[in-house]
Parts: sequence; structure tokens; C-alpha cells
Amino acid sequence: MLEQLKKIFTGNEDEIPVNTHTKPDISREKSAALYEKSKKYFPGGVNSPVRAFKSVYGTPLFIQKGDGCFIWDADDNQFIDFCASWGPLILGHNHAKIREKVAEVMQNGMSFGAPTALENELAELIIKNNRFVEKIRFTSSGTEAVMSAIRLARGYTGRDKIVKFEGCYHGHSDSLLVKAGSGLVTFGETSSAGVPKAFAEETIVIGLNDKTALTQVFEQFKDQIAAVIIEGIPANNGLLIQDKEYIEFLREICSTNGTLLIFDEVITGFRVGFEGAAAYYGITPDIVTYGKIIGGGLPVGMYGASAEIMGHISPDGGVYQAGTLSGNPVAMAAGIATLTELSKSGFYKDLNAKAQEFVESIQRFASARNYKFKVFTVGSVFWFAFIDKDKIQTAEDIDPASMEKFKVLHRELLNRGVYLGPSGYEVGFVSAAHSKIELEKAKRAIFEALDVVFAK
Ligand SMILES: *Cc1c(COP(=O)(O)O)cnc(C)c1O
Repeated sequence: MLEQLKKIFTGNEDEIPVNTHTKPDISREKSAALYEKSKKYFPGGVNSPVRAFKSVYGTPLFIQKGDGCFIWDADDNQFIDFCASWGPLILGHNHAKIREKVAEVMQNGMSFGAPTALENELAELIIKNNRFVEKIRFTSSGTEAVMSAIRLARGYTGRDKIVKFEGCYHGHSDSLLVKAGSGLVTFGETSSAGVPKAFAEETIVIGLNDKTALTQVFEQFKDQIAAVIIEGIPANNGLLIQDKEYIEFLREICSTNGTLLIFDEVITGFRVGFEGAAAYYGITPDIVTYGKIIGGGLPVGMYGASAEIMGHISPDGGVYQAGTLSGNPVAMAAGIATLTELSKSGFYKDLNAKAQEFVESIQRFASARNYKFKVFTVGSVFWFAFIDKDKIQTAEDIDPASMEKFKVLHRELLNRGVYLGPSGYEVGFVSAAHSKIELEKAKRAIFEALDVVFAK
């Protein structure tokens, strides 16, 4: 292992010779054949659109297995993976503790539609280690959690309108597939066919990091806004890190107007720390939603709030929300095994330190070469931006033309054994399973790929 470490690069990014040779494309024969088949069965050949490689080169890779920080595609190409199933796999692929716990629970059957002790166990792990929720409800996806949180806010306040931000993604429910219209404060326009206009009219969309727009919204729609929803740290359209002071302003204006503040922490929950972005900022939302990591790779979502607000959920209250497989024992088992590891002392400190070292080195490399490239990062989340700005806080600040460079980077990285999600708007994740050696290897590949990107 020491021998291996010595052979690879450790420091002095500016001394690396420029290396612009393109590698031959990896074989995608089997993936391509599977894709031909899948196109007959599924729209675009996929069961979620971002998997379709529409904004990068080549056909989607079909993955056959994962282990630790690695995945292997159908053609046996091996990759160091930074997509992590879009975030859930903070412990890496095929983690032994999760696999064993799931296997153990499965011996007793897979679903009962009746309560089990496992739900209590996962709830206890969460509530005892989280200052922001007193009562929770499990769902089977992030979309459901957010959709239900919105209904809860409407039921609790007796108001209909909600405010969301351009550049935040909150799943695919009707009220939230809405984008900004023209003008500072306008009713939203649907961002998907099939969403009734009347739904979009209840959702107001404004830009991030804009106090004026926020103030104007509350003046214009006084006493009508049930909730403002924001991603704890917006990470679905680049990484748009907001100033704490802005989030404080948001908190304040919601409280003043009797509007609930919802933190959608489906990505940031259990990622930037056990208590997510709420603890990162030190700001208390009224309702919080989790997903992704909470299920350790199986389908789990959750929303939670104070006992008083959650008292409005049926059967205690009048806001209806249900789920045949909610709190499913197998999924709970994966959540319990995952969160047990995450709640160990030092987990986030170690992970974040490792990730920060990784991204800082990449930034030093790019800066030493004067590449128009910036890594934005928080905790173990990173975003590669081909943009020459020190801060990006709104969706508007992202130049769509910069995505052409990402396309090249993505191809060069696949050819060098590094897997990023197939879109330049998506963030990457470092997991606890990425060893220092693999991160060094990944860095080397990223350095070479950047040289190729900027050689053009
Ligand atoms: C992924 C995501 C969702 C949707 O979760 P699904 O499990 O894909 O339905 C909602 N909000 C945020 C912030 C997300 O990142």
C-alpha cells in the first residue's frame, strides 16, 4: 500500500507536466446492447430521465455491481464513483453492515402494512440526534416527503400559496414542477407538460439570494403564503451556497408573516452533518424533509416538524397522507444500519476533511494552470464549474455554454475510470469508502481530463 501511494502524486499540483493525450473510448458494447433493449421498454430507455446521458457523450452505462467506492459496468469497466446513486451512498456501495442488516430483517418477511419495531428504532436514531424534529413520518421517496410537507404547511396555515426558488429541485410533484415566469415576482409557469396551470398559480417562484424579491412577495401576497421551501443548501442546479445572512432574513420574514419555512434536506440531510443544513446554518426550519441517505440505498423519505405541527397529520389531524410501503421494514433496516454508522463520533469530521483535501488539490491544480474552472464545495459535496466566478448563488449565474466543457470532462473521466453523474448541473459526492489512494488516482484522472478539456 505504501509502495502504491508513493507511486502516485501527493502535492505540488503546479509541478505536474501538462498531459493532453486523449485516451481511447472504453468499450460500451454490452451497455449499448442493453440500451437498445431498454429503449423498447422505457421512455428514453430509462426509469429516471437524468440517467439517459442526454447531455454527455455516448450511451448510458448499465451498471452490474458496486463495491466500496467502485462500480463496474456491463462491459466490466471499473470506475471510481462520485455519483453515489445521486447521494444516498455516503458509506459507499454494498456496505457490509447495511447488507447484513437488510438480509437479517428480510428473513422475517418484507412488508406487513402494520407497524414494526424497526420504525421506532430508525425514528429514535433520528429524533434523539436532531434538534429540528420532534415527530416524523416516513414515506418511500423524497418527492413524497416534500409533497406531503407542502400539504401539511397548507393544512396548518389554512393558506394555499407557496414560494419556491429558481434553481432548487424538490421532486416531481405538481406544485413544484414550476419555474419562474418573467418579472421579479410572478406566478410560476409549469416546467412540465401535464401540470395544470391552476397548480402553477399557487406557486410563486423567485430567484435565490434576492432579499428584494422576497420582501416584495410578502407584500404582494400578504397572509396568503403557507410556506417558503428552499433546499437546505441548493445542490440540484450546481451548488448554490447561500449566505447565512440571507437564510436568516428568510427565516425572519417567514416568522413575521406566519409562513412556515420548509428546508428540503433530501440531499443535505445526513450529508453536510447528521443534522443537515439546519445545523450547518444554525437556523431552525418549521418543517424539514429528508430522503436519499436516510434509506441507505433503499427507498425512504421522511418529513418532520414540532409535535404541534405534526399533530395536523392524519390520523391525529386533518391533513391526509399515507403509504402502503411507508416505513417498510427492509428499507428501515438499511436506514438504521446507515444512520448508526453516521452517528458515530468523528464520522463527518473525517469524511469532510478527506473530501476537502481532494477538492482543494483539484482547485490548486486548475488555478496553477489558469483554467477557467472552479470547484464549489460544502462538506463532502462538490460541483465542478467551468466558470470564472468565486461565488455562484443563483441559477442565472450559470452559463449554459460552460456545459460543453463538462461534456468533454465527463467523457475523458469515463475513459480514465472515474464516474460522475451525466450532467454538468449535478454535484458529486465523496463517500466514506473513498480511500486516500483512490482519491489520489481520481485526482490524477481529473488533472489529465482537465488538461484535455482546456487544450482545445
Ligand atoms: C432528490 C431530491 C428530491 C426528490 O427525491 P426522490 O427520492 O428522487 O423523489 C427532492 N428534493 C431534493 C432536494 C432532492 O435532491
